[in-house]
Amino acid sequence: MIIVLKPDATDQQINHILEKVQKLGLTPHVSKGTERTIIGIIGPEDVLRITPLEAFPGVEKVMPVLSPYKLVSREFQPEDSVIDLGNGVKIGGNKIVVMAGPCAVENYETLSEIAREVKKAGASVIRAGAFKPRTSPYSFQGLGEEGLKILKRVSVEVGLITISEVMDTRDIELVAKYVDILQIGARNMQNFNLLKEVGATKKPVVLKRGLSSTVKELLMSAEYILSAGNFNLILCERGIRTFEDSTRNTLDISAVPMVKQLSHLPIIVDPSHAAGKWGLVASLSKAAIASGADGLLIEVHSHPEDAMSDGAQSLLPVNFQELMNELTILSGAIKRKL
Ligand code: PEP
Ligand code: MN
Repeated sequence: MIIVLKPDATDQQINHILEKVQKLGLTPHVSKGTERTIIGIIGPEDVLRITPLEAFPGVEKVMPVLSPYKLVSREFQPEDSVIDLGNGVKIGGNKIVVMAGPCAVENYETLSEIAREVKKAGASVIRAGAFKPRTSPYSFQGLGEEGLKILKRVSVEVGLITISEVMDTRDIELVAKYVDILQIGARNMQNFNLLKEVGATKKPVVLKRGLSSTVKELLMSAEYILSAGNFNLILCERGIRTFEDSTRNTLDISAVPMVKQLSHLPIIVDPSHAAGKWGLVASLSKAAIASGADGLLIEVHSHPEDAMSDGAQSLLPVNFQELMNELTILSGAIKRKL
């Protein structure tokens, strides 16, 4: 249910409505736009049917939310969400945020070298996994807490904020202790217990689209996180499984403007896991920004041939720098900043 207030509704009138809604045992979410304020209400709405909210001073109209996802929908919050990632970095506004780094934390020296390179090129977030979701149990699984410690140390030394994947509810506290942004990987997009638990933290979360998930399923998963109380959510398109086998996955560019229409949440694109080939990453990154993405998640490695995972899709720092130069020009053309 959405309560649209009159443009001249006073704070007193708004508070009066909020009190009433809370007394009915429902949770209001206030969204203050430039034109007017909207109050979204979540919970069993039956009680509202016998309470004529239209009659309250300051109310213009009351409407049901038609989409199956409520808190996530644009109906619920018409204004774009801008999420504070810490260290002055915000995503969802005019500035495009680039998160870059190796697939996994391998050792201090390599991560430190890559972090300095991506920082120099203009990235504001360093990515690196310490818990890796590998197809084979015999592949490198990540360094665990040791990897998180290295990531934290490097981020402090270089001055970047961090993103790293959490795969298991048992590790949320540990990962949250070391990193600024929790990443939910594609394979866990519908791990509903994990979604509820990261929803109970207030940490920014990047939720990656599942390998075979629709945009609607992605938004329903996002609803789990918001409904648990965490509105600091960023969505990520990272390619989906199709019949096409010349790339690792098929980057669904349409998902970007589609999500923008359906939801107020920021969306970023991971061109690396979509392509699976470093030679395609620059083109896909530019397509992503042109389509309205709020940021990119890119794999960069100083020695891709020796990388412990995903070397074939990792950009060399020199190529990453060149891409950032091109993205600066492209961002200006669409009136955004890199
Ligand atoms: C990753 O970003 O390291 C990763 C494993 O990606 P995905 O979950 O999209 O496969
Ligand atoms: Mn990877």
